[in-house]
Amino acid sequence: MIGKKFATAINCIDGRVQFPVLEWLLNDTHADYIDMITEPGPDHALINGSPETVEAIKRKLQISVESHQSGFIAIAGHYDCAANNISKDAHCQQIKQCVELVSDWFSAVPVVGLYVNDEWKVEVVCSKVVDHVA
Ligand SMILES: [Zn+2]
Repeated sequence: MIGKKFATAINCIDGRVQFPVLEWLLNDTHADYIDMITEPGPDHALINGSPETVEAIKRKLQISVESHQSGFIAIAGHYDCAANNISKDAHCQQIKQCVELVSDWFSAVPVVGLYVNDEWKVEVVCSKVVDHVA
């Protein structure tokens, strides 16, 4: 695994958003591998889900960040989500909150919020860059 870079996606289970998020991460982070954490309506789950659900996502992230030294985390919400059928604006509000939450957990890793739109294209909602520590 030496020299191979990982990034992590927290994405919906929805089959329509797997390739767009995977491709975005491979292109934009130049990672070799993408660890996929899936949850129905992950933006909703992280903000409004039960403590058990939030904890389960955090545990999966921990494995990716600690064992794979993932260098980048994306959290993605999407159009027409069966588990979180809200407006694009409402998705973006949740996604921003998710980015804050996840970067509180893993302050050394850059976190980006993504929205997969009605053309199944990825839009960047917000990002949290890590302050560089020499
Ligand atoms: Zn969904």
